[in-house]
Amino acid sequence: MTKQERIDNMMRLSGTDVRKCMKCGKCSGRCPAFKDMDIKPHQFVSMLGQGKIDQLLESKAIWNCLACMACVERCPRGVAPAAVVEAVRDTVVRAQGANGLKAEDIPPIVDEFIPQQLLVSAYRKYNK
Ligand code: SF4
Ligand code: SF4
Repeated sequence: MTKQERIDNMMRLSGTDVRKCMKCGKCSGRCPAFKDMDIKPHQFVSMLGQGKIDQLLESKAIWNCLACMACVERCPRGVAPAAVVEAVRDTVVRAQGANGLKAEDIPPIVDEFIPQQLLVSAYRKYNK
């Protein structure tokens, strides 16, 4: 796969139009994980638009994003920075091969109070 194909694939995975970004930084201003992210939400959008995917793929921030969607709600241009972060994370996870979360690895009762949504989210996050 060529680099351009990888860029196109990541843009398609994100499902958001990074070209609409006006670089206002409001998404990063609202992000609760901002301090922990080596690449900030607005930079994910900007760097994908510039095709700087190698830096994104090495970013530690993909594991710091809380998927809270505050950046998406804040964006005045309808861009979804969280979707870009997720697209990068999915690309990294897929490249690692079949190491996703398996149902048989989860004990019958993890915790009686654990929300079912958490497990569904974990499957979604780690099995793409
Ligand atoms: S979804 Fe991720 S990048 Fe967006 S505001 Fe929440 S923690 Fe930050
Ligand atoms: S809030 Fe939207 S327009 Fe502003 S920097 Fe973030 S993605 Fe770009």
